[in-house]
This record gives sequence, C-alpha cells and structure tokens, in this order.
Amino acid sequence: MVTERACLWIDLAALVDNWRTLARRQAPGACGAVVKANAYGLGMQTVAEALQGAGCRHFFVSNPQEGVALRQHLNAVMTRSGVSNGAAGLNLLTQIYVLQGVVEGEEPLCEDWDLIPVLVSLPMARRWWNFSRQSGRSLASALKFNTGMNRLGLSEQELAEVLDRFPGLVADTVLLMSHLACADEPGHPLNALQLQRFSEALHRLRQLNPNLAGSLANSSGLYLPHPRFDLARPGAGLYGVNPCPGLPHPLKPVVSLALPVLQVQLAQAGDYVGYGAQTRLERASRLVVVAGGYADGFFRAAFPALKAYADDSVGQVHALPLAGRVSMDALVFDATDCPDLREGMQVRLLGPEQTVDALAAAAGTIGYEVLTGLGERLRRRYLPVLP
Ligand SMILES: *Cc1c(COP(=O)(O)O)cnc(C)c1O
Repeated sequence: MVTERACLWIDLAALVDNWRTLARRQAPGACGAVVKANAYGLGMQTVAEALQGAGCRHFFVSNPQEGVALRQHLNAVMTRSGVSNGAAGLNLLTQIYVLQGVVEGEEPLCEDWDLIPVLVSLPMARRWWNFSRQSGRSLASALKFNTGMNRLGLSEQELAEVLDRFPGLVADTVLLMSHLACADEPGHPLNALQLQRFSEALHRLRQLNPNLAGSLANSSGLYLPHPRFDLARPGAGLYGVNPCPGLPHPLKPVVSLALPVLQVQLAQAGDYVGYGAQTRLERASRLVVVAGGYADGFFRAAFPALKAYADDSVGQVHALPLAGRVSMDALVFDATDCPDLREGMQVRLLGPEQTVDALAAAAGTIGYEVLTGLGERLRRRYLPVLP
C-alpha cells in the first residue's frame, strides 16, 4: 500500500450545513446546487450525493458530459440503496440542468440521460426545438436571458423571437434563468437593472407558460435584498467561499489541507532561499521545506503573503511566513519561532486559520480560483455527514 502524503479533507457536514443555510435564505423557493467543474474541484459525485441526501433536488453542471457522469452516479446510488420505489422516485425528481446548453450533436445525451439544457442562444434554441419535435416527446429545457452581463444568454429581441416563433418550446420550458454580474457588490447599480429586466421577461413568458419557474441568484445573490424567485443556484458558498466579501462569513469552511515537512534547513543570516534568491535571510533561520507547490494550486503570486500554520509543544499556534518563491512541488517556510517543528510533521495551509478566501487574497485572486486550482495529486478525502 502506498501511504498518502497529503489529503485535501472535505467536510461534508459543513457542506450540507452551508446548503441548509442558503436554502433557508431562498425559502419558500427551492435551493439547488452548482456542481460544475467537479464541484469546484471537490468531487462532484460525493458532493452531489451528500446534498441529495440533505434534500437538494436541483443540480447544475456546465456541459452534458458532466451531466451524464452525475446522472450515472445518482443512478448508482439509487441501485446501491436498493431500488425501492422511494429511491427511484427521488432520482426521477432530481433535476440536472446543463448551464452551457448543448453544442451540435449533444442533444441525444440530454434526452437519454434526462438532462435539462439551458438554451443560451437563438441557434441553440432552434436546434433543440427541432430535435425535440423529431423525438416526438416533450423534452424539458431552460432558457437563459442576458440581462446585462453579456456572457451567455438570449438578448431581449431574441427572447421575443423565441416567444414568437417557437411557442411550443416555451411551453416545454421549465425555467427562465439569468445571471448577476455584480451580486457580490450589493451597491452596484447593475443589480437593480438586471433584476428589473429579469422580472419583466419572466412576467412576459408566464403569459404563455404559467408554470415557468424563475432562477436568478447565485451564492452572493442570496445575500442581496432581492426577490428570490423560484430556484437558487449557489455554488461557491456551499464550498466555503464567503458570498459577502468584506463582511463576516455567514457560512462554514469546508476544505482543509495539511502538508508534510520533508526537510529542516538551518541557514545563516545573509543566506538566500529558493529560485531567484528572492528571499535573503536577516537572521539565522530554521526553515521547513514542505511538499506542495504551484502544481498543487499554490499560486506563485501568493509570495510573500502565503502562510503555513503549526502548533508548538505547548499548543500555541504559529503563523510561519513563506521564505522564497513558490516552486512546483515545494514551499519553504520560516519556522525559526516554532522550533518543535520537525521532519515528518505537518503544517496547515488551508482551514479555519487560512481560508480559501485568505489564500486567494494572498495571491490576488478569488476563492473560486483557489478551489478549482487545487491539484489532482491532493487526494480528496471526506468527513462524513453524521446521521
Ligand atoms: C457558476 C454559476 C453559478 C454559481 O455561482 P456561485 O457564485 O459559485 O454561487 C450560478 N449560475 C451560473 C449561471 C453559473 O455559471
């Protein structure tokens, strides 16, 4: 057996707790979960299974391939738990939406695996409607309306065209979606404008399809003083990113990571550390070399702000400053003030002391990029949801 060097621990109880907190903000509407990009790097299947167990019935992925993998996993969970009618029913009730819709040729994947494509453009809507008619079934889809972010979505004119030319498609549409560009900046005027455009479009489409649900909020959107509509789509908040930058974190940290010390170096005042001799030591120093680097998701730009945390023998926590640049597989920290730290012990890089947001700030980026950048060789391990 190969022993593991470093594990990325994912606290499923905290994840579920975060989902419940967000779901309370969305009530009485439903709260889904965005599990695209392998659940922001944390493992789509395990994350979705835990959230389904907590009552989540709406999952969002980026593309049909992710959707198929999720559907297969949820089917396997159902089989594993015994195909009671209850479990089968639960699985049929669990919706998987594909945020980027379908490129040409992917339509059958959605039909076969019960995925709901989010139609983001006029050609995509037309293609899906043709496919849907040929299939002879009424296939559910969602429509994405561009309310001002100008990333994906139908313009106002295109939406009017869909209403005009494909009323059958609108009748089969289960969800109208839009995405906020500045949900994490409550004071930004674009929020109110997007809200107004979305409300008007939803009203218009409901004249043709009164059952149409609306979905606008991501994690940060749930902290705006907005109407909630019918379905929320939080992602980052579930995984411990603060949805309210600059304000107290309303959710729990989910990931933690400790890395082993490979070597202790005793260096003299005036010595240099690492590539480019970036750090010159001002005092005789005790350096610890840790197994982890930019290949694991510790951005080079995190120099010099990145810290590691360790306890000394009397239980006091030390923040160890980074010494020298981040390299691919190694980080060097100054442990002069924590002399108990030895080879084989671990230092903490991610956790309550240094959250994903703090690690992101150290590198001039956002928690989303930290999470999705965590490297493949950090084995994901899960703290279970307690019954
Ligand atoms: C990724 C994504 C979300 C989730 O956003 P968070 O900020 O992670 O909560 C919601 N909606 C759409 C369209 C997305 O692409």
